[in-house]
Amino acid sequence: MRITIKIGSNVLTREDGSLDFTRMSALVDQIATLRQMGHEIILVSSGAVASGRSELKHIQENLDSVDQRQLFSAVGQAKLINRYFELFREYGISVGQVLTTKENFLDAEHLRNQANCMRVMLENRVLPIVNENDTVSITELMFTDNDELSGLIAEMTKSQCLIILSNIDGFYTGNPSESDSRLIRVVNRGCDLSQYIQMTKSTAGRGGMQSKYCVASRLASSGIGVVIANGKRENILLKVMTERDKTPCTEFLC
Ligand code: GLU
Repeated sequence: MRITIKIGSNVLTREDGSLDFTRMSALVDQIATLRQMGHEIILVSSGAVASGRSELKHIQENLDSVDQRQLFSAVGQAKLINRYFELFREYGISVGQVLTTKENFLDAEHLRNQANCMRVMLENRVLPIVNENDTVSITELMFTDNDELSGLIAEMTKSQCLIILSNIDGFYTGNPSESDSRLIRVVNRGCDLSQYIQMTKSTAGRGGMQSKYCVASRLASSGIGVVIANGKRENILLKVMTERDKTPCTEFLC
């Protein structure tokens, strides 16, 4: 199975904003196992801005939001990809960095070029690690967040499944902290969940449940199954792939 996995900033960072190397390492272990099981993986990883911010704590005061994004992502992406490179190398897995912008999805020529890049990496068993090129992307032309980007990558690579890892188990019927809210386990194609969607945003990244819902329902209706799960749970990727019915997550059926 070809699977696109998106890991959100909140999964990869600790409460103080620093990169959580233990978590990264655990997720890399699981991705390596999935590859050994025969799956082909494309990773969309956030965390550049958050990791750069924690690296440059001393200089954040007087920068505007664009300066911050450009500076933090430049530093943080280097740190992030370097760590992935080393972690995957222990398994003999070569990784490649793909930094992209929305323009690469807007016209046929750019789209073909981007698709070719993904194809050649996958054909050569190089694991693509994708992120938005936040250093040069223009604010008005950015992806809403990496949820949107991961959906476009899953479609482009004709993935059979997209797994979005966040710091929540999935979609709830109400506020997850309230006891009468329950986790929605399965969403049938075409089923409208909009009444349940909380407008709250994540703390470390740009995403939120609204954009996850838009991406998941769009992909499911075009034949790509989507699972939203909690990346902070132990062995979550393996559980989602091997014992999904016993694992807390929301699955959008296609
Ligand atoms: N591209 C951003 C980063 O790497 C994350 C965007 C998002 O939060 O979805 O920090």
